Amino acid sequence: MTSDLDLKGIGMTSQRTRSRLVERLREQGILNEHILDVISETPRHAFVDEALAHRAYEDTALPIGFKQTISQPYIVARMTEALLADGPIENVLEVGTGSGYQTAVLSRLVPKVYTVERISGLLNRAKELLATIGYRNIQFKHADGGMGWPERGPFDAIIVTASPRVIPEALIEQLSPTGRMLVPVGEARHQELVLVQRNGDEVEQQVLEAVRFVPLLSGKS
Ligand code: SAH
Repeated sequence: MTSDLDLKGIGMTSQRTRSRLVERLREQGILNEHILDVISETPRHAFVDEALAHRAYEDTALPIGFKQTISQPYIVARMTEALLADGPIENVLEVGTGSGYQTAVLSRLVPKVYTVERISGLLNRAKELLATIGYRNIQFKHADGGMGWPERGPFDAIIVTASPRVIPEALIEQLSPTGRMLVPVGEARHQELVLVQRNGDEVEQQVLEAVRFVPLLSGKS
């Protein structure tokens, strides 16, 4: 984590590197300008260890401790774009807070953000950082997110940032009647990003692309 939250002292270099990242995302097919703006304004360097801060605006996943990673910016952009593709939503559940970076991006785009993490060390760090930066519309929970957050649902959108072998039934049940979920499904080395679209009692699934996430584990630690 960046000491003393060096959020202002980013300087020209960093703004240039951020613009370069956004250009790259655009080239890779991210079209939603609002999401690209949010990504260019989100201080990703604050979400990684100081020693890795100089790599924060590369389009790559980076370690965040506890054997977990901060997601690649392209994947964050792609999943967020797919979640919002049908227009604005009121609330979103994120499973796998991790560094809190995806949470921060969602917080600028969705009025109410709920995020669940099973590792307390990560959850507390993300909670503190997001509060310090000034994000106010996020609620946090230390729990096994495979169970969702039934007391706060139903959700217009659910984003799962760790990979289950099969989609947890509890999450499908907590989607609002027209809700959608993005979830990377599969084995350790081969996963597919699946868009689950609920329409009343019907649930449709569409595979978007091949991805690689850390596994969704059960229980808390
Ligand atoms: N969105 C995060 C991604 C972190 S990696 C970021 O950009 O930083 C995925 C996270 O999912 C890890 O922090 C891992 O601990 C968490 N995770 C794995 N299984 C989980 C579960 N069952 N419930 C909640 N979080 C889980």
